[in-house]
Amino acid sequence: MLEMRPNCECCDRDLSAQDASVLICSFECTWCADCAAGFAGGRCPNCGGALSNRPTRALEKMAANPASTERVYNPDCLSTREVVTVA
Ligand SMILES: [Zn+2]
Ligand SMILES: [Zn+2]
Repeated sequence: MLEMRPNCECCDRDLSAQDASVLICSFECTWCADCAAGFAGGRCPNCGGALSNRPTRALEKMAANPASTERVYNPDCLSTREVVTVA
């Protein structure tokens, strides 16, 4: 079962277990869509693995199968993002 981590590891924003735009790698490093868009090659900056959309967990399953409340935060990921220049 997925941990369904509660936040983006890069920007620490809260992520809902019902948000279909959340991305994870096979180790369940967890990223919001905005951060993932800046990762080189669209790959996980921690492990280099491919990212996939995290499946959502139905609300009625949350009581018996709660999402993780353990926040994982690694601000160093910002240094791995490609620099996007806004003209
Ligand atoms: Zn983020
Ligand atoms: Zn990873």
